[in-house]
Amino acid sequence: MNAAPVLGVIADDFTGATDVASMLVREGLRTVQVIGVPQGAAPEGADAVVVALKSRTTPAADAVAESLAAWRWLQSAGVRRFYFKVCSTFDSTPAGNIGPVAEALLAALGGDFTVVCPAFPENGRSVYRGHLFVGDQLLSDSGMRDHPLTPMTDSNLVRVLQAQCRQRVGLLRHDEAQGAADALRQRMAALCSAGVVLAVADAITNADLHALAEVALDLPLLVAGSGLALGLPSRYAQRGWVQLDADAARLDAQSGHAAILAGSCSQATQGQVAAWRGAGRPARALDALALAAGAPVVAEALAWARAGLAGGPVLVHATVAPAELKAVQAALGVARAGALVEEAMAAIAQGLVEMGVQRLVVAGGETSGAVVQALGVQQLRIGAAICPGVPWTQAEGRALWLALKSGNFGAPDFFAQAFAAGSALP
Ligand code: ADP
Repeated sequence: MNAAPVLGVIADDFTGATDVASMLVREGLRTVQVIGVPQGAAPEGADAVVVALKSRTTPAADAVAESLAAWRWLQSAGVRRFYFKVCSTFDSTPAGNIGPVAEALLAALGGDFTVVCPAFPENGRSVYRGHLFVGDQLLSDSGMRDHPLTPMTDSNLVRVLQAQCRQRVGLLRHDEAQGAADALRQRMAALCSAGVVLAVADAITNADLHALAEVALDLPLLVAGSGLALGLPSRYAQRGWVQLDADAARLDAQSGHAAILAGSCSQATQGQVAAWRGAGRPARALDALALAAGAPVVAEALAWARAGLAGGPVLVHATVAPAELKAVQAALGVARAGALVEEAMAAIAQGLVEMGVQRLVVAGGETSGAVVQALGVQQLRIGAAICPGVPWTQAEGRALWLALKSGNFGAPDFFAQAFAAGSALP
C-alpha cells in the first residue's frame, strides 16, 4: 500500500471541501481535510487529503496563486492524482475563478485535457447537453440566480466556462457516449485532438459518474463537484493503490453546548431557518444594516445565546429573503455587506466557543470559511454524513465538532437532523 496520499483535492470553499471529503470517506478512503495550505508535512495514514481554500470569490489571480500553492504542497506530499473541487452549481463570476484555476493547475501538471463535471445527481444536480439543472429547474431559473456573491444567470456551462478561460472549452455529450466507457474514451480523444482543453461532461445519473470516473482515472487533474469522487476509491483499490476502510468515518462522541450559525441566503437555508423557527426553537436574526451602523449586534447576539444555551441548540442567522438581501446590498455594496456579515458570524462563533459551545452547525460556504478560520481550526476529521454532502467533522485534537453545510444542501429539518445525529437536541 502507498504511504503517501493517492488523491489530493483542492477545494474552492470550505463546505465544498467537507462535501467531497464526505464522499471519499463514504467510499472507504481515509481522508483528512486541512484548512488552507499547511506549513508542515502531510498527515500520516491518509489516502486522500483535501485542502480547503476560500478562493471561490477572491480575485482570480489570488485564487490561482493559492491553488498553485496547495498543488505544490500536495505534490511534495507525493500525491498521484489531483482534483479541483468546484461547486455543484458552478458558483463563479464571469472573471472566474473556476476557469483560471483549472487552466493554471492543468498547466502546472503538464496536462493538455481534462473533464469538468459539477454533476451530483443524488443532490439534484445534473448536466445535460452542457446545461446544469438543479432538481427540475435550469440553474438560471433556480434560487442560484439570486445568490449574494455568485448569481448564476446562465445554465449553459460551456458558455459560462469559456467566458472564464483562455483555452478552448468543449462538451462531452451524453447522447454521443450514453455512459459507455469506450465511447467516452473515443469522444475525449476526439475533443482533445480538436483542441478542446476543458470538456464539460454531461452526467445525469450516478452510473454516468462512475463511467466518467473509469475513463478519467488517469487524467492528472479532474475538475468536478463532489459527485465524481464517488467513483474513484473503488478504482484506486482495484489498482492496489489503497485498501478501502469501511470504518473510515470515525469521530469522538460529541459533548458540550450546541449552536447554529446561518450566513447563507440560499433557498434551502431559508427553508431550514423557517422550519427551526416554526418548530418554536430559539432563533435570532442578525441585522446587517445595524451591523454597518456600528450597533453592538455581535455582543447582543452572544448575550442572547448565553441565556439560552443550557436549554439546547440556538440559531443565529443572517439569512434573509432575496428582496431584503438586495436592499441591504444596494445600501452597503455586495462585497462590504458580505464581509460584514461574515466577520460578525466569525466573531459570534468565537464567542460561542468561549462560552462552551462545542458543536456548531454552520450554513453557508463563505460563512463556514470565515468561522473555521476564526476558530483557528487547522485540520478536520470527517465523520458520518448527516445528509448527502454534509458530514459531521471534528477539529483534530479538540473537543469541537463542526457541520459545515453548503447553503443549498439539506432538507428543511436539517438543523434538527444534525443535532439528532450528534445527539444534542433536548
Ligand atoms: P451559500 O453557501 O448559500 O452560498 P455563503 O456563506 O457562501 O452561502 O454566501 C452567503 C454570503 O451572503 C456571505 O458572504 C454572507 O456574509 C452574505 N450574507 C448573508 N446574509 C446577508 C445579509 N442579510 N445581508 C448581506 N449579505 C449577507
